[in-house]
Amino acid sequence: MDFTLTDEQKMIQKTVRDFVNKELKPLEQEVLKNEREGRPGISREKVKELRDKAKEIGFWGINTPEEYGGANLGPIMSVLIAMELGRTFVPFNFGGSADNILYLCNEEQKQKYLIPTINGERRSCFALTEPGAGSDARSIQMQAVKDGDHWVLNGEKVFITNGNEADFAMVFAVTDKEKGANGGVTCFLVDREMGWESEPIHTMGEWGPATLIFDNVRVPEENILGELGQGFNLGMQWIGQGRYMIPAGAIGAAERLLQMAIDYSKTRITFGKPIAERQAIQWMIADSAVEIEAAKWIVFRAAWMAENGMDARHQSSMAKLNGAIMANQVVDRVLQIHGGMGYTKELPIERWYRELRLYRIFEGTDEIQRRTIARNILKGHVKVGELL
Ligand SMILES: Cc1cc2nc3c(=O)[nH]c(=O)nc-3n(C[C@H](O)[C@H](O)[C@H](O)COP(=O)(O)OP(=O)(O)OC[C@H]3O[C@@H](n4cnc5c(N)ncnc54)[C@H](O)[C@@H]3O)c2cc1C
Repeated sequence: MDFTLTDEQKMIQKTVRDFVNKELKPLEQEVLKNEREGRPGISREKVKELRDKAKEIGFWGINTPEEYGGANLGPIMSVLIAMELGRTFVPFNFGGSADNILYLCNEEQKQKYLIPTINGERRSCFALTEPGAGSDARSIQMQAVKDGDHWVLNGEKVFITNGNEADFAMVFAVTDKEKGANGGVTCFLVDREMGWESEPIHTMGEWGPATLIFDNVRVPEENILGELGQGFNLGMQWIGQGRYMIPAGAIGAAERLLQMAIDYSKTRITFGKPIAERQAIQWMIADSAVEIEAAKWIVFRAAWMAENGMDARHQSSMAKLNGAIMANQVVDRVLQIHGGMGYTKELPIERWYRELRLYRIFEGTDEIQRRTIARNILKGHVKVGELL
């Protein structure tokens, strides 16, 4: 067994870390100020400028196939990169990528949706959740009714990330009530100009999702993504990728936060000694370090399985559950170690506290991950204690 990173992986890790240190961390105070004053942390123009800079050093299309100009680095490298980007809360991602299911576009759709998304000219959003169906996504109600060579969509989607900014949505709607999620849900590519509207949802974090309203929105037949009735599988495919990428980002955040706590504990004096010399503080630091280490290897194994063409769903659920809980425990301890300062907006800890809380909710809550893990074990799909 070999846990060492290859020279290429080390080089990529270092380059991204340098990029974060040089280009992103200096923006942190400005991001905090903008967000405090109700503006997006970072402007679209600044994101573009940073993406162009990153492109010059080869960071573009991390997971995008070479035929679309991407680097196609694969799951392990993507995880490594997400860990590095997670070390800052500046809302930034490298350019040149598109939602995994957009690669199922036909040739015509590719020109209208996939390629402009990769090039950053159009923005997408993924619209599955409804007011009555979140964890239980199989019971979505949005209707799509056939009318000539169009489908007419009616209903509401909620909590849609990028829903306020997106130019088009990947919308999941029921095309056959009888079959429901078993062959009766279809994914449509729906341009904003076709008539859907969005309303911001205010959350405790800086993550501003939207409600999307569909009132007799007419979508041409040719805008079906994949096959009629096969949309639910696409939805699950989209969600599946995030299950090891989300905890990868959380690991980066937890490492940075822990380092802040270590530094602070060495300089904060109480009762004549730095708090780092108190066992209560040392245990919080030790527990955090152990949990981060454990989370890292669960995530790497999920990515390694995906990279090697294995079914990584079970491992990814474990990675998401464990990583999200770990990050929330770490940020809570780090805030505690900083005392009153941790609770202020002078430091980014409270911001991370609010953001990381989301990780236990979206793309499958803790409870849903546990449900999946338990079901796999109880049904014998995976065996406890079995390493591949
Ligand atoms: C900021 C944000 C961004 C999001 N982005 C998107 C997006 O881009 N696209 C999209 O489609 N959706 C998105 N979502 C929706 C998100 O995926 C759902 O909120 C999530 O899946 C939970 O669904 P719910 O909110 O309806 O909670 P519910 O499903 O109503 O669950 C409520 C509680 O009950 C628990 N629960 C549910 N079922 C069970 C069970 N069987 N056993 C035990 N406990 C259970 C849950 O874990 C939870 O604690 C986003 C959500 C947020 C908050």
